[in-house]
Amino acid sequence: MQKTKNLIWFTTNLRTTDNQTLLEAAKHASALIAVYVMDEMELQLTQWGFKKMERFRARFLLDSLHDLQLQLKALNIPLLIVNGNVVNEIQKIVIHHSIESIYHQKEFTYQENKTIYQLKNVLPQVSFVDFYDQFLWHPEDVGYKDWKEIPEVFTEFRKKGEAKVLVRKCLPSPNAFPENNYFKTEPIPSLEDLGYLSLEIPSHTAFPFKGGSKAAHQRIQHYFWETKQLSTYKLTRNGLVGTDYSSKLSAWLALGCISAKEIYWEIKAYEKKIGSNESTYWLFFELIWRDYFKYIALKHGNRIFYLSGILNKHYTWKSSKKALELWTQGKTNEAFVNANMIELQQTGWMSNRGRQNVASFWAKEWEQDWRVGAAYFESYLIDYDVHSNYGNWIYQSGVGNDPRDRKFNIKKQAEQYDPQQEFVKLWT
Ligand SMILES: Cc1cc2nc3c(=O)[nH]c(=O)nc-3n(C[C@H](O)[C@H](O)[C@H](O)COP(=O)(O)OP(=O)(O)OC[C@H]3O[C@@H](n4cnc5c(N)ncnc54)[C@H](O)[C@@H]3O)c2cc1C
Repeated sequence: MQKTKNLIWFTTNLRTTDNQTLLEAAKHASALIAVYVMDEMELQLTQWGFKKMERFRARFLLDSLHDLQLQLKALNIPLLIVNGNVVNEIQKIVIHHSIESIYHQKEFTYQENKTIYQLKNVLPQVSFVDFYDQFLWHPEDVGYKDWKEIPEVFTEFRKKGEAKVLVRKCLPSPNAFPENNYFKTEPIPSLEDLGYLSLEIPSHTAFPFKGGSKAAHQRIQHYFWETKQLSTYKLTRNGLVGTDYSSKLSAWLALGCISAKEIYWEIKAYEKKIGSNESTYWLFFELIWRDYFKYIALKHGNRIFYLSGILNKHYTWKSSKKALELWTQGKTNEAFVNANMIELQQTGWMSNRGRQNVASFWAKEWEQDWRVGAAYFESYLIDYDVHSNYGNWIYQSGVGNDPRDRKFNIKKQAEQYDPQQEFVKLWT
């Protein structure tokens, strides 16, 4: 294959290891430049008065880009970070650097595909090459001829997968380019440059971590090897207070600072050296949940964003501004909901137990348009991931993959998971 002048367009794959897109882009390049576009749409206010991306996720993203830039520099690959309209910015770079091929992660949700479609339209002379880089089980290995065959029930999907899919080995980083591939890049913008207020997070946050691959691997070092928390994960994963009740790997996974495969193989190494048990298996089990929502997005496309969800179920939904204010400010009649919402508002983090309860409260107790709750999560969650967020929201709202269509009894949940009210007292 003839080598071309390539651009790698980074999105939610901000790492240099186990990154097929980067590896292939480098392999087939006479010269390689990397770009990340800070999408201006993410910085705008939504119709509900909060930004599409609030400052917690923005800061984690900036940290991650800083880390990626250093990793790429070691490979003599310059990373350009630009703000603006994604299509316009990439078009300018392609023209300025006479790029022949763009390598990018394969996407399957509406906004992402629309951007790729527009790019292909304005750059007909460029070839586009894409790879699935966000799965644990590679889509070519799961054995479905058509995405329509993906089971609607998680357990069926998991059992079929566990019986026949092998997680692929991790890919190495590309070889370093000669120094003449590198040119000096502009510094990464600050939060304030992007129009955000500076950020102070309370010291008792459950998520005090920085973005970037280096921090992700440090977290694994701590959670697996130093403290061996992995061996008790199943017993602690429903916790609410502190950094170590669960792995906290979601934010790095969401931006692709680490891959699900890298975590899987680290679990396997841990099991070999320290021992396997239900807890070590359970982290793998949760990574399958993450994959499942990606497959549900592949199967149902835009339906995951529809009010009637993938079930095409029509409920009467309310849309009250007052309710939104009470819920987001933590001023409802449920102390447990309030504490979780305040934690989210002050830190960008909420536990899985909290997310399930506040979502169920919003959609099933108050019967408010679930999409507004999902949009608020999208804005505030440090670990926002389109498939996991919308997949879980439709699940909790009775229009997704919950075969039992459960509604949480918030008081009972609070008694069970916060019996001494330690969590509620911490945040209210
Ligand atoms: C309404 C709602 C919205 C959510 N939105 C998001 C989101 O935007 N981004 C996100 O990553 N997760 C989301 N989740 C899933 C889950 O709450 C988080 O992944 C988890 O709390 C992250 O903490 P952890 O990394 O310590 O998880 P752990 O318990 O340590 O689990 C390990 C990993 O497994 C995956 N995982 C665990 N539970 C789920 C799940 N229910 N769905 C999908 N993947 C899962 C995550 O990648 C997680 O990092 C949402 C859940 C609900 C109920």
